[in-house]
Amino acid sequence: MQTSLSYLKRIVRAKMIEEWKDWWHKHPNKGHEYSGPFLSKPNALFKTGNRLLIATAVQLRTSHGYFNSYLHKIPGNDSSTPYCSCRRGFLENPRHLLLQCSEYKDQRNHLRNLLHHKNPKLNLQSLLYSDGCTHGLEYFLKSTMIATRQWKLGNTTPSQIPPNYSTRQGRCWGTLQEVEDEHEEREEL
Ligand SMILES: [Zn+2]
Repeated sequence: MQTSLSYLKRIVRAKMIEEWKDWWHKHPNKGHEYSGPFLSKPNALFKTGNRLLIATAVQLRTSHGYFNSYLHKIPGNDSSTPYCSCRRGFLENPRHLLLQCSEYKDQRNHLRNLLHHKNPKLNLQSLLYSDGCTHGLEYFLKSTMIATRQWKLGNTTPSQIPPNYSTRQGRCWGTLQEVEDEHEEREEL
């Protein structure tokens, strides 16, 4: 499992850089308003400056990440199941984790409340790509820790995380430097 997580870390980093470059090239004048398809607008997610949050969201967008639907395909991975541990016969993929998994029902209800005015019905595309949903996505990812390395290693207990923590530099995720530490120094745990 450890080897595959290290391997995945490289994939995720490459994907994140790829997406970031893509965003950068499309926005030569950074910070101005743009018209056109939503993907060509400045993306609020990248402006949060939280690398763990960005990396996690990119994993969910690309379906390459710390979840079984992808992990089970990685060479040398111990875990052969693509399914979620909620034992309902669902693939553990971004759609399931964000929209269906019973483990995160409470956080999802809160997410619905956060986004209710703009998006009465949760939708994977807008949740992952729409700037209007970024604060909701940020809440959900921070409170569940889904699709992070620590989550996959079982080092988080999402149910103990209060749903009303601050979204900027949330307690659970610490500072940017601590996020770096999580990614850089705990690799060999
Ligand atoms: Zn599940």
